[in-house]
Amino acid sequence: MPTPELIRSIDLDAYADVVGEEEIAEIRRLARSLTGARVQHVNSTAVGGGVAEILARLVPLMQQVGLDARWDVISGSPRYYAVTKAFHNALHGAEVELDAESFRIFDENTRQNLGIVDPDLDFAIIHDPQPVGLARARNPSKGKWIWRCHIDLSDADPRVWSFLRPQVERYDAAVFHLPDYAQQLSIPQLLIMPAIDPFSEKNLELPPEEIARVLERHGIDQKRPIVLQVSRFDRLKDPVGVIRAFQLARGWHDCQLVLAGGGADDDPEGERVLAEVREAAGSDPDVHILNLPPDAHREINALQRGATVIVQKSVREGFGLVVTEAMWKGKPVIGGAVGGIRRQIVQGTTGFLVHTVEGTAFRIRELLTNPGMAHRLGENARQYVRHNFLLPIYLKQWLLAMLAMRHGERGVTLLEE
Ligand code: UDP
Repeated sequence: MPTPELIRSIDLDAYADVVGEEEIAEIRRLARSLTGARVQHVNSTAVGGGVAEILARLVPLMQQVGLDARWDVISGSPRYYAVTKAFHNALHGAEVELDAESFRIFDENTRQNLGIVDPDLDFAIIHDPQPVGLARARNPSKGKWIWRCHIDLSDADPRVWSFLRPQVERYDAAVFHLPDYAQQLSIPQLLIMPAIDPFSEKNLELPPEEIARVLERHGIDQKRPIVLQVSRFDRLKDPVGVIRAFQLARGWHDCQLVLAGGGADDDPEGERVLAEVREAAGSDPDVHILNLPPDAHREINALQRGATVIVQKSVREGFGLVVTEAMWKGKPVIGGAVGGIRRQIVQGTTGFLVHTVEGTAFRIRELLTNPGMAHRLGENARQYVRHNFLLPIYLKQWLLAMLAMRHGERGVTLLEE
């Protein structure tokens, strides 16, 4: 699998307008102590899903501050991706069928990808379970290895976790989003919450005409309220539940639903789920199902900006970057009370958390009938993201994590100005 194409980096200083100059100065100071460090990120897909979204922005910014950072993607057969998707669902607590052959396929794929590891690396940052086994190839006397887990392990299937755990323990540390995801491990565990890039195509400000053009192209009526969910077509995002909630809410308040999504290279279930979603929508003219290509970032941006209310009714969620994206755009968000969504939505202040279809319908109605409330939640949401979930803050946390790993028990010492 080729190295994913990286965007040309935006100058770190440009972020001073959103996170403040002090934050930028501190990042530069931390980065100076890591100048030239060879950092290799590895994951399982170049496009689709939150991990690819983050790496496409984080890696260029790491390069910008002087690290020798790169990003590689493992390869695998459809059979392998069927296994890793089953692992993913099982780690999120779903019932899945696995047998000895599944574990063998996983190991075999790890073996075939060992050559991807940079022998001269200073830091390997390996994302999620798919490439976790690569630590087998590590040179024990060179570099620090960090396993970065993006999923909610709080209800992980013991068969899968007991298979992965010894592989995780080959690392020097594991990084989770939330304390609830931390595990019994023999290695140190760190917590870093993900972030979005305010200057990416997905998040930059757009002219109103562009938003209007995108809505028109998809046949969405701009005079009536728009309820939107953006997600890979994945059962854990509960798209069918969103359709039901919309149909209930519409009984009280006229509106339309847009379900925008696509697939990811490492997710073989997308087509099946999309078919289920189409069936649930039937011929309802007010349900717009948009199957978008993986690079439709500006289009998704426009849909988010054009929406009246944004829903993310996940039943499991590692973090939920789409929630952050919507909040940054000043939108009122209704999110399933799971995973990282609970950390982003402060009930009644930066959005609403829901547990059921009926609860989702109730909140859609509440927001559509109270534009003042919708506006206030959206404004609070944007400020909350500004202070907690923007890319420079994320970069700073990674720099601190790397410095802590490098200096170990001696504590972090920074180079002087
Ligand atoms: N996304 C996208 N196209 C789609 C669906 C999702 O670009 O069709 C993006 C979305 O904007 C977000 C990321 O993929 O940046 C999804 O991240 P999240 O953490 O919400 O969920 P994941 O897919 O990683 O489970």
